[in-house]
Amino acid sequence: MITCAEAVNGLWAYLDATVDAEGRVLVEEHLARCRTCCGEMEFAKELRRMLAGAREQRVPPDVLRRLHQTIEELGT
Ligand SMILES: [Zn+2]
Repeated sequence: MITCAEAVNGLWAYLDATVDAEGRVLVEEHLARCRTCCGEMEFAKELRRMLAGAREQRVPPDVLRRLHQTIEELGT
């Protein structure tokens, strides 16, 4: 199974539909088994929805900070 960090990194490509079939399976498999990343998935979906509805706006600094923080925490 891939690590949380790999899953999160793959998550963004996954949500952008730029991930290949193999990568998609790896991410889905991880998310199905990892509680931490399930929460991350919800977060990422929410973030994407927000970005889609606010293309003209900058991403709020606190959102970016949380994103980077989450990735760093998962990577340790
Ligand atoms: Zn995980």
